[in-house]
Amino acid sequence: MREIVENQIYRVGSSGCEVYLIDTHSKEGLVLIDCGMDIAMIKRISSERLDPKNIKHCIITHCHIDHIAACNDLQNFIPAIKFYAHELDSEAIEQKNHDSKTAASWYGTNYHPVKLFRKFHKSSEILKIGDIEFEIIHTPGHTPGSISIIVESNGFKILFGQDIHGPFYESFGSNLNDYQTSMKTLLEKKPDILCEGHFGIIKPFRKVESYIKRYMKENKP
Ligand SMILES: [Zn+2]
Repeated sequence: MREIVENQIYRVGSSGCEVYLIDTHSKEGLVLIDCGMDIAMIKRISSERLDPKNIKHCIITHCHIDHIAACNDLQNFIPAIKFYAHELDSEAIEQKNHDSKTAASWYGTNYHPVKLFRKFHKSSEILKIGDIEFEIIHTPGHTPGSISIIVESNGFKILFGQDIHGPFYESFGSNLNDYQTSMKTLLEKKPDILCEGHFGIIKPFRKVESYIKRYMKENKP
């Protein structure tokens, strides 16, 4: 566990993917960005005096197993938890037998579906939880329903861009034209901190910019 923004935004750790946590400091409790593959890691936030039972929301960035495998365990642990994702990745999250879309077949594991509380439809929309505005930006490329999330906290603009490095495969429904457009949108937002899905925390904006531009260059249509 590591604090990214004091008393509000945390990196929980890595289990399949990087998992991040936002404390709304309201009755809406804690919000997870993806949940990775291992609920044990999430339960360990109690060592930081945060109550894992107070996780009330989980925003899913896309439908890959390394980001969603723990969803079902999480739901058993916190039955009232609300899951959110983009509608274009929702089938693979909510239904069985999408093992190539979720990449579960790569990992040799089974995915146990969960129902979404809300599906995002627009190119950009605000999800308000407590007093925090989560800007949900549809950033297709890696998968059709990939989203990136921006939160402002303590004067910083934090971008949760889970798999903005790719990879890109036909079986994922990847699209490099969409990817280029999505990354341009994220660069225009000028985030101070990038919380990446597999490469940790990148800052300041100068480094975020060169990180994103490097992958744009490597992944031209
Ligand atoms: Zn992925």
